Amino acid sequence: MSTPDPGRVPDPGRAADPAHTPELAAKAAHLRVAVIGGGVAGLVAAESIAAIGAHATVFEAQERAGGAVRSGEADGLVFDAGAESFAVRGGHVRALLSDLGLDHRVVSPEPGGAWVAGIPGGAAPLPQGGLLGIPANPFAEDVRRVIGWNGTWRAWLDRLLPPLTIGHDHSLGRLVRRRMGARVLDRLVAPVSTGVYSAHPDDIDVDVAAPTLNAALTRAGSLSGAVAEITGGSGRAPGAAVQGLEGGMAGMIDALIARIELLGSEVRTGAPVEELSRDADGWTVRIADPEPQAAAAPGTEPETIERGAEDAADAPVRFDAVIVAADEATARRLLAPHVPELAAVAAGSSPRIEIVTLVLDAPELDAAPRGSGVLTVPGSHIAKALTHSSAKWAWLRERAGSRQVVRVSFGSAGEAPATGALDDEAAGRLALAEASALLGVALRPAQLRGSHRARFVQAQPSAVLGAAERRTAAAAAIAAVPGVAATGAWLSGTGLAQVVPHAKAEAERIRHALLWD
Ligand SMILES: Cc1cc2nc3c(=O)[nH]c(=O)nc-3n(C[C@H](O)[C@H](O)[C@H](O)COP(=O)(O)OP(=O)(O)OC[C@H]3O[C@@H](n4cnc5c(N)ncnc54)[C@H](O)[C@@H]3O)c2cc1C
Repeated sequence: MSTPDPGRVPDPGRAADPAHTPELAAKAAHLRVAVIGGGVAGLVAAESIAAIGAHATVFEAQERAGGAVRSGEADGLVFDAGAESFAVRGGHVRALLSDLGLDHRVVSPEPGGAWVAGIPGGAAPLPQGGLLGIPANPFAEDVRRVIGWNGTWRAWLDRLLPPLTIGHDHSLGRLVRRRMGARVLDRLVAPVSTGVYSAHPDDIDVDVAAPTLNAALTRAGSLSGAVAEITGGSGRAPGAAVQGLEGGMAGMIDALIARIELLGSEVRTGAPVEELSRDADGWTVRIADPEPQAAAAPGTEPETIERGAEDAADAPVRFDAVIVAADEATARRLLAPHVPELAAVAAGSSPRIEIVTLVLDAPELDAAPRGSGVLTVPGSHIAKALTHSSAKWAWLRERAGSRQVVRVSFGSAGEAPATGALDDEAAGRLALAEASALLGVALRPAQLRGSHRARFVQAQPSAVLGAAERRTAAAAAIAAVPGVAATGAWLSGTGLAQVVPHAKAEAERIRHALLWD
């Protein structure tokens, strides 16, 4: 991977514009902010703090920062083991990449859409022109191929049913089932919703996942008409476009760390924060070693050595503010003593996901038999989805040479990953068997050159029913307490396009309070 270019270093006084004064710059230079969690949210927040000349210290529990944006390696090949792309909508991630000097590495996926597996006949291309899997035209050949004639006639009834004029459906599953029937729901919408949100459509809030759909339904008089109106015959739902980074999205993490360090701030890895304390002089951070220092005697508890964040003279470092950017469970634990109102806000469910990436000698995959990958009808396969990464990303294909890279994902909301109890070798074997089934190609263990396994706890997607209200209530409770901010996917919604602007906004809130209040 090429050395990250920290890009154009921003003007340290920019946050104070237009009333930037030398006094404010001097004030900023004395400010210290602790950022707990070195995923994208924490790093973006830290960079925003460092950009005004204040000092940010990122505490990251793992040995590498990045969180869900991390690289993996198998058979000498480096690839994205977690997030592999970003949604173009909003322009926030693209702007960040530009700011970090990474414009030249932004790439689009290869043409060739995804397939859906678990239908009679095995698999078929996911129809073009839909929205969340809802077809604009149930008679289109690619739609009929998935839902059959019975499903098509039932879906067509949508055109005859009166639109709801009083109130509307919040549940995507209910809306689709009522208007277009079970086949559209089970074979088209559920695979997309499980693949995108790790959740069943019954649990997805239409107004969050497709904010204009209910209004368009009232205007157009049918659900398929509403989808046609929204997609405008473009064959692509607005906001659905994604891009990636040559060399992998983890390049953004390297560049963020380089920028933070260039600005004189720091990222401390292997530093799991145990507790945040506050007194009249500010905040202190207590860290516990992630690993016992010495091998524990059999039958004894491993010793956990606690240490504070200390300066050179071993005095505890005082921070003027903290930004908590860890996962929801950790954030709630750390914030509980300082934001007691948070306890009244229900916690979101956080699905566990595992991704097994396979590097294969498989010339039979050269023709990309399933396009960029496969979504599954829930219950039809053990795996939830498959990405044919070396077919989707040209940069990876080039680096892989004659090899193929395929990633298989397991687990979704309410369903633990099937790989959970397996050792790495067995998880690799299961992923290979699932890849064979999903790609429609018999892959033998001898073709497997290497595999990589990564485990994640995903924040509750923002489109899950009730999530938006919970997030708003949690954010309000946190904002009411001076000197503390919180960000990350559990508050912004999952996805880099949401995480990045939220982290910037929270950092800006803290910057403003420290400089002006
Ligand atoms: C498998 C997977 C694939 C994804 N693919 C995409 C994609 O292609 N495109 C897209 O836009 N989004 C994708 N997402 C979503 C996106 O990656 C996440 O929403 C985003 O990266 C979350 O960033 P975050 O900083 O909020 O959380 P995280 O990345 O989870 O970071 C939180 C960090 O806090 C650290 N931490 C936890 N506890 C402590 C503690 N006590 N002390 C210090 N540090 C602590 C953790 O180690 C971690 O590094 C994907 C997510 C997953 C899980």
